[in-house]
Amino acid sequence: MNVGDEANTMSTIVNLDQVKQLNSATIYKVIEQYAPISRVKISKISHLAPASVTKITRQLMENGLISEVDLQASTGGRRAISLAPNAHNINVIAIRLGQTQLSIAHYKLSGAKQLSKQVTIPLLDNSINLIEFFVSEIAKFITQPALINEKISAISMTISGLVNPNTGTVIYHATYPLQNIALVEEIQKAFNIPTFIGNHTRCLALAEHYFGATQQCQDSILVSVHHGVGSGVIMEGKVLLGKSCNIGEIGHIQINPNGKQCHCGNIGCLETEVSDNAIFDKVKAAISAGSPSSLNISDFTIEDIYLAAIDKDPLCQSIVQQAATYLGKSIAILVNLLSPEKIVITGKITLAGNLVFDTVKACTETQTLPDFHDHLSVIPTTLATDPTLAAFALTKQAIYEGDLLQRIKV
Ligand SMILES: [Zn+2]
Repeated sequence: MNVGDEANTMSTIVNLDQVKQLNSATIYKVIEQYAPISRVKISKISHLAPASVTKITRQLMENGLISEVDLQASTGGRRAISLAPNAHNINVIAIRLGQTQLSIAHYKLSGAKQLSKQVTIPLLDNSINLIEFFVSEIAKFITQPALINEKISAISMTISGLVNPNTGTVIYHATYPLQNIALVEEIQKAFNIPTFIGNHTRCLALAEHYFGATQQCQDSILVSVHHGVGSGVIMEGKVLLGKSCNIGEIGHIQINPNGKQCHCGNIGCLETEVSDNAIFDKVKAAISAGSPSSLNISDFTIEDIYLAAIDKDPLCQSIVQQAATYLGKSIAILVNLLSPEKIVITGKITLAGNLVFDTVKACTETQTLPDFHDHLSVIPTTLATDPTLAAFALTKQAIYEGDLLQRIKV
């Protein structure tokens, strides 16, 4: 066998594994969506041969992922055997490394959230101590009495920053000492549980696609406005990552050449103009300089600003309107590039309601091609505020698109 033959054999093996993984995931998804469902119907919906369905469902049953449910046929004929997922028996841990808080939650694979806790992340100046803190908090969580006898099938974590989900590495974080740190390897070493990591906003876009407003569309973009501004792009039902793994960093589009310097080093980035902190600072500075406002300078929050903007407080209205215009211009660029069906906006800025949505919509209507905006919806998130839901979506992705389904044995 020459080198070329060997390479071909290797790629055939890899492809067969990928096909098996893909077919298993397709069947599992069909069972999840239509349960209880018979093998005949699975075959029809999945377009997979009955023999493949029998083989794959047998393996899923052996691993405890699905089980047979015995249903009495309504016509009184022989009993029909259907299949249903065992998602209530599969435990996963979802973690959000927030700006100051570490949120940890226990979910069943069905999506039912069981337990959760939040702790403040201490100010630690090196990655070793920070990783020790994460490991210790996860250990405390999974050894509590309610969980100690449960098998955990996966741990997923989300973080705001640049990450490489393929290597499990945090590339850059603005506040934590996590530069080029193989965080997944460290967590797996400590617990021997399959572990996944993703950028929080990208995973939030996935959560919206799996459980929220973009379930029925293949191409959508989630835009998150918080202490920064970011986006997650879903194309053909999958999160767009690219080779860099970090597509969607819209916070650093230059929107105001005369603006402030951003932490990235550039001037007038979108996030220096429309993040919650930026809006808060602008309102505070204007009130200090004597601008009339219904807000009390010594006691107001970012939420108060958005609500005052709706109540027609002129200062808040003008600053939020300006921010929404900048946001709308950036979203119009995304629409021109990617032509999504829906734009979902998440963050406290959505409290300003139509002031934000009408402005963004007007930008997309005047700054993109008619074909691109005629059927475009710009809507607020439909998901409840849950810091760990994005990480739970990452586990679902590992089942639907990765090899986690093959690795779970209950
Ligand atoms: Zn920047």
